[in-house]
Amino acid sequence: MPQGGDPAMWQKALKIHRSAIIVDGHNDITSPMTDEDFDLSMDSRTRKTRNGDAMHTDISRFKAGGMTGEFMSIYVGGETFTTGGSMRRAMDLIDATYREAEKHDDLIMCSTAAEIRRAKRQGKICLLMGIEGGYAIENSLHGLRNFYRLGVRYMTLTHNVTHDWADAHGDQPKHDGLSEFGKEVVREMNRLGMLVDISHVSENTMSDVLDVTKAPLIASHSGARAINSHTRNVPDSILKRLPQNGGVIMVVFYPSFLDERTRDETAARSARLRDQISQLRERFKDDPAGFIKAQADLMAANPVHITDYKRIVDHIDHIKKVAGIDHIGLGSDFDGLDILPAPMKGVEDLPLITYEMLRRGYTEQEIRKVLGENFLRAFEQAERVAGSRQISGQGSLKKLAPPKLN
Ligand SMILES: [Zn+2]
Repeated sequence: MPQGGDPAMWQKALKIHRSAIIVDGHNDITSPMTDEDFDLSMDSRTRKTRNGDAMHTDISRFKAGGMTGEFMSIYVGGETFTTGGSMRRAMDLIDATYREAEKHDDLIMCSTAAEIRRAKRQGKICLLMGIEGGYAIENSLHGLRNFYRLGVRYMTLTHNVTHDWADAHGDQPKHDGLSEFGKEVVREMNRLGMLVDISHVSENTMSDVLDVTKAPLIASHSGARAINSHTRNVPDSILKRLPQNGGVIMVVFYPSFLDERTRDETAARSARLRDQISQLRERFKDDPAGFIKAQADLMAANPVHITDYKRIVDHIDHIKKVAGIDHIGLGSDFDGLDILPAPMKGVEDLPLITYEMLRRGYTEQEIRKVLGENFLRAFEQAERVAGSRQISGQGSLKKLAPPKLN
């Protein structure tokens, strides 16, 4: 229970939370699973990543947090766009995800909304997959289709770099949004039933996606730009188009995306300590663990304001006001963040968000929508769009323009 919370309201929040379907849009535990042999049955509370960050996810924490469906991020780093190897990297992460489901009875691979609902009844935790970084298809619609066949159910069109067919947030635009091939990718995702994810893309790309897509879009881990004007967040101009599109903004937990003060103080601290960190890196160049410890000590001696979990609900409130209650979800970015909103430590703390919504007067039905039902509705809608286009013969393979490099 949150400090100073109301015990009766906490019990009511837990009751709603335990019975609800909970879907989270984005979890990066797949990277340590692939690179550090992290197994989801391990106790992640007692471990740190190789960067020295606290971990947020394991099976026991999924259970404590009431997770029904977790989107495991098939995250492909922006550098692979130039170095090559992005499709191979995605394959490795997909395999790591399947292996966890094969090893542990508590987990099950899911790729449809119906499977998520069934897993809830069976008391299992669904692993779903979303690709982060559209260059993972290596400019090939064939690659895209094969990822769908492997069970990938969303693709974030970019990460932080603009690539051959889509502009990213915070990078130089090359296409004024989506290129013609980028629009073909969106149409083919519609035809397959793979959700288009607008987290990380530029505002013009978001707008182009809305112009082209026949299915609801998602932002798998983004906030509202009106609350914090970060380019990773979704502006009101896009939120206003959601009722027509049916899409869902799954609110991210990263303190710097949630809160202006956290973001400003963190950026100022990075600038202030840059020289000292370079000196530490030099001093500990043969001792990576020593460097991580020294850097952590330096950060602890220079604390910044870290926003709390209530700020997540400020973003939920705003999206509700502009787009409506049907267009909000949760997209934590667990294990993709060095820090969570206070006092959250990991997946087990999801009930805090349910409590805060209840405290602010959200009805049980509204809370269920945010926790998972909105995502399921959008996913089911995307499944219907896929089916209808196959029956009509639209989007036939012959009609698709061959992939071309810009
Ligand atoms: Zn991301």
